[in-house]
Amino acid sequence: MKRREFLQQSAALAAVPFVGVPPTRRRIRAPLHVDGARLNSWLASFDAIGRTPTGINRVAYSQADLAGRTFTLDLFRQAGLAPRIDTAGNIFGRLEGSSASLKPILIGSHIDSVTDGGNFDGPLGSFAAIETARSLREQGVRLRHSLDVVVWQNEEGGTIGSKLAIGEFTDADLDKVARSGKTIREGIQLVGGDATRWRDAVKKSGDIACYIELHIEQGGLLEKADLQIGVVQGIVGLRWFEVTITGFANHAGATPMNQRQDAMLAAAKFTVAVNDAITGEPGRQVATVGRLTVSPNTTNVIPAQVVLTVDLRDLDRAKLSRFTDTFERFGREIGAATGTAFAFKRLVDSEPAIASPKVMDWIDTSAAALGLTRQRMPSGAGHDAQEISRIAPMGMIFVPSVGGISHSPKEFTKAADVVHGADVLLNAVIAADR
Ligand SMILES: [Zn+2]
Repeated sequence: MKRREFLQQSAALAAVPFVGVPPTRRRIRAPLHVDGARLNSWLASFDAIGRTPTGINRVAYSQADLAGRTFTLDLFRQAGLAPRIDTAGNIFGRLEGSSASLKPILIGSHIDSVTDGGNFDGPLGSFAAIETARSLREQGVRLRHSLDVVVWQNEEGGTIGSKLAIGEFTDADLDKVARSGKTIREGIQLVGGDATRWRDAVKKSGDIACYIELHIEQGGLLEKADLQIGVVQGIVGLRWFEVTITGFANHAGATPMNQRQDAMLAAAKFTVAVNDAITGEPGRQVATVGRLTVSPNTTNVIPAQVVLTVDLRDLDRAKLSRFTDTFERFGREIGAATGTAFAFKRLVDSEPAIASPKVMDWIDTSAAALGLTRQRMPSGAGHDAQEISRIAPMGMIFVPSVGGISHSPKEFTKAADVVHGADVLLNAVIAADR
């Protein structure tokens, strides 16, 4: 940051009125910093938990997940945040604010991993949240709002802990089997919750002042643009379709080319058409034909049927609907041209989760005050923040993933970027408290 910018920023921070604030409260003139070495040392120690030759295996409700939670509970205690586990199995710790009438600011992430994953997806945001609370305490900053630090359980199994916390869950869902082989019900008991009373953990709209989550980008956009911080605009909506293309099986040698009803050829044309449509206009929309089941799947028979899947994502709901219509039109046109029939079935339809403009501004101005380069961007991956956005203003901070790699043992974020992200989180919390 240029000196003039810094002075302007400092003046702006100093000019903020402190209505109803106890006289002992410290005035914050310049951006604060976390103890970055401490935060990175926690991440380094945590890397040993669940580390196997094929990657980090801290799958929810596994022994390694439990060991990770024990480690994390210790960090809460060292930070002076007496941790408690809610009935849904999420860990909470509170730094008391000065004004009991204000709803808490919530920050955090998760610590469970995918199979053969990395050490940064989740732990970064969880530990940075603990460090933020600890830094505020150590630096004598008393917030007006209470600051709640949360570690959501089982994010990688489908944002289970945060879904429970907003009540987007049913008793029947408790019997679903998680990746560890245990049911959600068993998992909740195992991590110290109470599955029979999970509804006691449900938070309603208005219970939380705002939610801010720091996370690794898990893509390569920040690194490619040589930027330090991503200000997340929201988490993209997702639509999954299963498309069944029906043709006619016939002899691959005896049937002339102009008399075929080849489901595989139709599938190929459709795949190319989807790609052309998605890449044919500006924007960050993505679509993928990811799975094909061909029958009879034999060398000398014209394919009678193909079942394929389409994965479509964007931040804009209207765009998702428009592309859905386009893909269905492709089905009719290609079906007519190839003598096949297309049938669409929607498997998943999740709404985009839009970040709060206010929270984005707090993140943006904090990054600016810290002299960090940044851009606004969508999140292509799902996060607990998408659930909490249904009940509270939400924002996310991204830091670069080296090589854009995540959900892999190669997942890595540089120590300096870890600190940048945590510093932005700390200052965004202070901005949110004003
Ligand atoms: Zn994550």
